[in-house]
Amino acid sequence: MTKKKNSPFKFAVIITLLLFAVLTALVIVNDKKSETNTDTSFETQPSIEGQPTLGETDAPVTVVEFGDFKCPACKAWGETIFPQLVEEFVNTGKVKFSYVNVLFHGDESKLGSVAAEAIYKQKPDSYWEFHKNLFKEQPETDHDSLWITMDKIKNIAASIPGIDLEKLEDEMQSQSVINNVNKDEMLVSEFKVQQTPSIMVNGTMLSNPFDYEQIKILINKELEDSE
Ligand code: CA
Repeated sequence: MTKKKNSPFKFAVIITLLLFAVLTALVIVNDKKSETNTDTSFETQPSIEGQPTLGETDAPVTVVEFGDFKCPACKAWGETIFPQLVEEFVNTGKVKFSYVNVLFHGDESKLGSVAAEAIYKQKPDSYWEFHKNLFKEQPETDHDSLWITMDKIKNIAASIPGIDLEKLEDEMQSQSVINNVNKDEMLVSEFKVQQTPSIMVNGTMLSNPFDYEQIKILINKELEDSE
């Protein structure tokens, strides 16, 4: 009698425990996946129209960096992964590379981005030099301290031959430069950028931007597909 009365309850407990076990297992499987490869595929790739772009315009594969001048990992990426990518794929005409601004660190991110876009507007060929030199100025430690200032920007710009500093200041206020920064923010939201740097090879966002082997695998696959 007692046994009969308890059964439905016992059954419910067992089912609940089983469900819990299955859900736990699923979570563990998901976690393991994210440790290996969870590159995200998008149906489209970011438009690089109006973006500073390094390499041949008809290079078959496009790599886009979503970066922030205030972000230490972006500085590290630019100094370690980027040179390999340029040597192996950009200089050989296989990849064109574009940089899209991300403003995750607030006012300084914005100031750096506006300045870089204004340099690009004034003298597109000098963009990458400014880009590299601005990252070079990022402090190795205490990168949260204020360092992207108008003075810093003018110093860097003054070291680049052919840059008109007055024009730079004017164009940093111009609507076309502001529009370019806004356009980048739209791409950041369109491609759900959560971290900087985020690296996309055509329509695929890498889960680990520092995994150069994986970047190579993705580029080579896209190169094969483009043949
Ligand atoms: Ca841009």
